[in-house]
Amino acid sequence: MHLVLIGGGHAHALLLRRLATQPRHTFHKITLISPRATHVYSGMIASVIAGDVPMSCALIDIAACAYAARVQWIRDEAVHIDGHTVFTKSGHSVHFDVASLNVGSSRRDQHVCCDVPHALLRTSEDICMAMRAADGPDPIAVVGGGAAGIEVASALAARRRLRACSAPVYVISAKPELLASSSLWPREKHACLLRHGGFVPMLGHTVRAVFVHRRGYGLTLDNGDSLHVGHVIWLTGPSAPKWLQTSNIATCPDGYALVHPTLVVHNAPHIFAVGDCRTHIHAPTLDRSGVHAVHEAPILLHNVCAYGTATRLRPYRPRKRSLYLVRLGHRRAMATWGSFWAYGAPLYTLKRAIDSRYVRHNTAPIDRGS
Ligand SMILES: Cc1cc2nc3c(=O)[nH]c(=O)nc-3n(C[C@H](O)[C@H](O)[C@H](O)COP(=O)(O)OP(=O)(O)OC[C@H]3O[C@@H](n4cnc5c(N)ncnc54)[C@H](O)[C@@H]3O)c2cc1C
Repeated sequence: MHLVLIGGGHAHALLLRRLATQPRHTFHKITLISPRATHVYSGMIASVIAGDVPMSCALIDIAACAYAARVQWIRDEAVHIDGHTVFTKSGHSVHFDVASLNVGSSRRDQHVCCDVPHALLRTSEDICMAMRAADGPDPIAVVGGGAAGIEVASALAARRRLRACSAPVYVISAKPELLASSSLWPREKHACLLRHGGFVPMLGHTVRAVFVHRRGYGLTLDNGDSLHVGHVIWLTGPSAPKWLQTSNIATCPDGYALVHPTLVVHNAPHIFAVGDCRTHIHAPTLDRSGVHAVHEAPILLHNVCAYGTATRLRPYRPRKRSLYLVRLGHRRAMATWGSFWAYGAPLYTLKRAIDSRYVRHNTAPIDRGS
């Protein structure tokens, strides 16, 4: 049987590590389709921008993991799936018996009129560009007031403080408050974000258009105001990769691959989907976060190996709450767990320890045994 792994996200990185050290079961061939050799671990992007850790600490070498697992790596992007065939951007088609999708999500921007490319912070090049912008004299706009937007804006502001640069980092959000979700002591939480973030909030505003302006960009807001900045970073939350909707696989109304608890796509028993690109039929409101992609990995491994055998597939049971740690201010972090939250330096130490452990686990040399 031929297993094709589409995308080099969190779950596939862990899967490749395991495949390197355990028997390959029924697969005579395993292929990875990924446009990049490295995967940026998003939990560490803010620490890299702020200068706490070097970029190399946040990169997982997917190509090396594939090599160690004797998996063929095709440097390409999937654009369509039909039955047992995946078609790629460069015009190739790959036939598979079983496939797994871990391609993440796209950017949400449907209502923005824009003729310039946005930085999304998906690649090391994007992150380097953001750091160069922070080292320059012009204001920066981060669009999106969720956890990612706040964390990145605060890290950019921290980087600027170290270089005694006073140009502002704006956070533009359509919502009237940052990290707008139910929590205990919401006012105190909001005040804490504003006090320690170091950025300039522009709340209750939607970006209508982005255009080139002198050596940077102009943003037109919904109230007609314009903002001129040197760099724009787009962190408005996930949306489904468009090609999933035009492929012959079941998707939810938002366009994500629709999966059963076993991570099997609803109308395609030979395709699995994990991480941001899927919606669980039984838990449609589950967060799209790296935490779930990581926790789904062992279930995915068990289930792809069980495919076509008499072994029962295991269900993914998401935890009711997960701990989220957002870097905020100078080497401090805000933790949220359900509706509870806290802020302080020890939480950043905890975040660094968790993140470093994850990346180390994925980058340590693989011992295949004898
Ligand atoms: C700044 C920032 C900070 C964040 N911090 C956290 C955090 O602390 N904790 C947390 O839980 N979540 C965090 N998130 C969210 C988290 O990054 C995502 O939820 C997570 O990356 C999703 O993981 P994934 O494995 O599904 O996909 P991804 O990590 O997005 O990986 C998808 C991979 O698939 C590849 N790919 C894409 N399209 C194709 C295609 N068509 N064909 C082949 N390959 C393809 C991509 O190149 C990429 O390597 C953060 C997000 C951002 C932006």
